[in-house]
Amino acid sequence: FNVLPHNLADAHMNGSVHIHDLEFFAGRPLNCLQHDLRQFIKYGLKVDGTGDHTSVAGAPNHIETLMNHSGEIMLAAQQNMSGGLAMSLWNVFVAPFAVGLPYEKIQQAVEMFIFNLNMAYAARGGQVPFTSVGLEFTVPDFLKNEPAYGPGGKQVGVYGDFEKEVRLIQRAFTEALIKGDSEGKPHLFPNTIYYLRKECLTPEFTEDIERVHFLSAKFGTAYFINMLPKYMGNHTNYMGCRTRFSDDWTGDWDTDTLRTGNLAYVTMNLPRIGYNARDENEIFDYLDDYMSIVEDVLMIRRERALKCLNDYKLLPFLTQKVGDDPYYRIENSTLSFGFVGLNEMLMAQTGAGLENPDSNKLGLKVIQYINDRASQLKSETGLRWSVIQTPAESTAYRFATMDREKYPDQIICNGDSSASYYTNSSHVPVDTGMSLPEKIKIESEYHPITRGGHIFHAFMGESYSNPDSLMSLTDKITHKTDIGFWAYSSALSFCVNCKTLMKGLQSKCTHCGETQEVEWYDRITGYVQQVGHAKNASGGWNAGKKQELLDRNRWEK
Ligand SMILES: [Zn+2]
Repeated sequence: FNVLPHNLADAHMNGSVHIHDLEFFAGRPLNCLQHDLRQFIKYGLKVDGTGDHTSVAGAPNHIETLMNHSGEIMLAAQQNMSGGLAMSLWNVFVAPFAVGLPYEKIQQAVEMFIFNLNMAYAARGGQVPFTSVGLEFTVPDFLKNEPAYGPGGKQVGVYGDFEKEVRLIQRAFTEALIKGDSEGKPHLFPNTIYYLRKECLTPEFTEDIERVHFLSAKFGTAYFINMLPKYMGNHTNYMGCRTRFSDDWTGDWDTDTLRTGNLAYVTMNLPRIGYNARDENEIFDYLDDYMSIVEDVLMIRRERALKCLNDYKLLPFLTQKVGDDPYYRIENSTLSFGFVGLNEMLMAQTGAGLENPDSNKLGLKVIQYINDRASQLKSETGLRWSVIQTPAESTAYRFATMDREKYPDQIICNGDSSASYYTNSSHVPVDTGMSLPEKIKIESEYHPITRGGHIFHAFMGESYSNPDSLMSLTDKITHKTDIGFWAYSSALSFCVNCKTLMKGLQSKCTHCGETQEVEWYDRITGYVQQVGHAKNASGGWNAGKKQELLDRNRWEK
């Protein structure tokens, strides 16, 4: 708090806004990072950024070395970031190393990478680093003529030459995820994100895409990106935390989507605006106030980041040179307005939530208003402002709990007094009685106006464990909606005693009858996690999120 003026610190303390990762504000102020694996293929790897404290690896010559480096890059960069790490186009950049290898060898290499990321438990004091990997079904058109880098960092033609290898690596990766770990549990990392582009939505790729839906039906861990809507451009990166970078900043996909990330976001408590505003106009007055707080906090955070990078030299992995330039490109990082509880704000104002068409219209107007401010700031400051659907793991709980005390007569939230929570961002409440197509229609409209990050959650019931029914949903989402990023989540239970994996939230093992040590898995706001339901589990979801889990309406056919 020492770095923040009183009025901004107060706004956080009183729950009008939420400043995320406060403990990292001073020393590790940058949120997340999209890597460019090609740079490490060309120049080798210094995990400390300088080579002063660690061995320096040259450009990799073999796929095993590259797998090892891929993992080390993520772990090393984690020391410099407060949020997640991602590698998109991963299998395209790895492809030149797979030429001529038998499929088993590719499988082994990919499994090694996946296990490494999941077993790096010590790196963050008992937390596995938050990693995401983007996989392509084929080489995207925009990359086909780009120079490809292979063993020894040498140029080996263009990426269009490695179509076959791209497909084999994707297949090996997906098969490894379907297999799970040696106990049959899902690999929770990396968050694996599959790109659906016009290039791969053809009969030739049906089998590959089906396999991924099999993974989705089994574990619910896969994410999908829909590249068909126009606002997605040629290339758009996401990661499991849902931050998003599209080639609409400078227009160059490399500059706009790699070696940068979300600098930070600050979340606004929208329901509180709903309680305070006496009419629609006042909503926008309050929004102006809240947004100006967010702007001030983010500008201070950015100043702090520049100091950490350039003056205090605290982030050597990011400042290391690749060629002539620093690896991390802060000038392309996003500063984002986050928000929680649009639904409850609308209910407080109009008596109805997003499910009501008139309320929804006001909802769209509110988010568009924030979006307009972001655009205006872009031209005023030259910085990359955006709007994000906050992944509000603790914020939705914190805001609702504080507002229950502060606005006892007006409070509108989910759960009860022991476990209150607001609905995430512009999502429809999780216990909605709407049909899945109706929910898709409403939430889809918010994706083009939340370009800093968004996600659509489809919480699937047990009748959707059939990959074909998920495939047909995917077909509808890609061709008929503006949804950019989504996941099919299904609740799983795992018996710690006899290692049986079950569908749904089970309190008793169907195999051995165990009742105490049954762990639950589901997607928390972003990614699949252990819930902390087993008796001896450590950590787990907060009370608000656990309540939300029980409230989730799961779609059945
Ligand atoms: Zn059991």
